[in-house]
Amino acid sequence: MLTISDVKSLCAREPRFDDMICSLRAISRQPKKMRKETAEVVALARKFNDEVVRPYAAELDRKVQEDPDFLPLEFIETANRWGLYTLWIPRIFGGKGYNLPSFSYFIEEIASACTAMANLIGVHYLGVATLISAWNTPIIQRVFSEVVQGEQNGQPCLISLALTEPGAGTDVEETELMDRGKIACHARKVAGGYVVNGSKVFISNGHLSTWHMLYSFADLEKPSSNLVMLAVKTGSKGFSFGRKERKMGQKGCPASELIFDECFVADENVCIDPEQTAKLSRSATETTMQLIDYLFGASRAGVGAFGTGVARGAFEAALKFAAETDVEGKKLINHEWAQSMLAQMYRNVLVSRYAYVEANYAHGMDGMFRLLQLKPLYYLTRYAPSAALKLVVTPLMDSRLGTWLMRKIHCDSQTEEEIERTSGLGSLAKFTGTDAGVKNGQLALDLMGQAGLRQDRLAEKHLRDAKLMQIYEGTNQLNRINLFKCLVAKGIPQVSVFTD
Ligand SMILES: Cc1cc2nc3c(=O)[nH]c(=O)nc-3n(C[C@H](O)[C@H](O)[C@H](O)COP(=O)(O)OP(=O)(O)OC[C@H]3O[C@@H](n4cnc5c(N)ncnc54)[C@H](O)[C@@H]3O)c2cc1C
Repeated sequence: MLTISDVKSLCAREPRFDDMICSLRAISRQPKKMRKETAEVVALARKFNDEVVRPYAAELDRKVQEDPDFLPLEFIETANRWGLYTLWIPRIFGGKGYNLPSFSYFIEEIASACTAMANLIGVHYLGVATLISAWNTPIIQRVFSEVVQGEQNGQPCLISLALTEPGAGTDVEETELMDRGKIACHARKVAGGYVVNGSKVFISNGHLSTWHMLYSFADLEKPSSNLVMLAVKTGSKGFSFGRKERKMGQKGCPASELIFDECFVADENVCIDPEQTAKLSRSATETTMQLIDYLFGASRAGVGAFGTGVARGAFEAALKFAAETDVEGKKLINHEWAQSMLAQMYRNVLVSRYAYVEANYAHGMDGMFRLLQLKPLYYLTRYAPSAALKLVVTPLMDSRLGTWLMRKIHCDSQTEEEIERTSGLGSLAKFTGTDAGVKNGQLALDLMGQAGLRQDRLAEKHLRDAKLMQIYEGTNQLNRINLFKCLVAKGIPQVSVFTD
């Protein structure tokens, strides 16, 4: 018979158990206040939905349908007034410093009402996360202080991520693919900075953003080891906006072309380049992959939350319809087949939520959220008076020492296992949530018949909006392969991934 000590020693021989269920390891480490903060964020999202998003969702969709060049400036100003563009900027950089996982719950709420408006807020944090990912602290400090000022003076200052090129989407998200692809955005080193030539496409919020986090490459023959990440400001000489895409869904959120023609970017706006990469412990190619994993691991969990939100929106539309509609002498909701369908839709929402929550637990321990969730640092950065933070932390972040320190903590000290776990779970959350969004969109239309196709019910909008999510932040095919690479292939002999 097994004794307690047998069981304990069995457990000790199974060190990966905690990794399989991140929440098990994470919960006791998380600052308790995070829960209260998250409840505040969800309450704020629901109020914002009631007052701003729901009343405007159908109108915004229609406006862009009628005039594809329409830009939702009024909405951006409203979101700025509500303080939504600084809520997840850490207090050490002047923001409100809400814990980063709470962003996912917030975005699920907003996406359940309108994904386009969720993106008009959420994509800014993709830019924020990209800027953070290179940990060049003086640039982070400067750009974030503009976002904070923009909130104070009523002139929104948003940040976009510019990665995708006309000939390279998936290829820019994996170092194994970069050197075989058609990457063409070139950064030429010159005295005092870089000169950029090339273009980017499908950049969400491009036309609305003040800063653009640009992935360019110093050598197009070997981009994987020559990443140059730049912060480019709207209005810079040699930088212009091209077309806005006419697309299927998320119509209220522009997808922009950005054009760089001999665009000079000064050294002070170089977030990371081969010279800086050489000072890190990994090779240049490994560092490029680590940066991508570090960023997308976190942001893909957020896209999983978008997908969960749209899956929930479709479920709620179907549930309301079933509760109100008579079929064969009784409410549709009292037909067993409808109940089974609604249960399946509800399950899609919950499973997707579990996936992004679990990924965020991993990021809190081993990825982008790690430092700010360490209990002493969390309480210090959340509750120390702003004046004290300005006196002590701001000068450090403004210096090269700040960059060196943050890169030591975040880049050099992150183990391969931690990179794989956070990246793999980010991909899992992404394709689980966004597949659920599309599935629930289809089920809602199945259940609602012709009523679901009418634009005023918004069910067809959920389906159109959800489809786009399966494509951005890496197609769901790419994310499945990334999950395989990170969490399945490990340790299996003779498995190769992304080498076709
Ligand atoms: C609405 C929207 C918003 C977006 N916002 C942004 C943004 O803000 N910033 C930004 O930089 N980008 C953005 N994108 C671009 C997005 O990230 C890319 O569309 C995505 O990475 C896929 O790239 P692609 O479209 O070039 O497809 P491709 O890479 O051309 O892929 C085409 C097909 O081939 C498959 N495929 C490609 N390579 C492989 C491989 N090696 N193995 C297996 N299958 C493969 C893909 O899965 C897909 O099925 C956005 C896209 C959309 C639709």
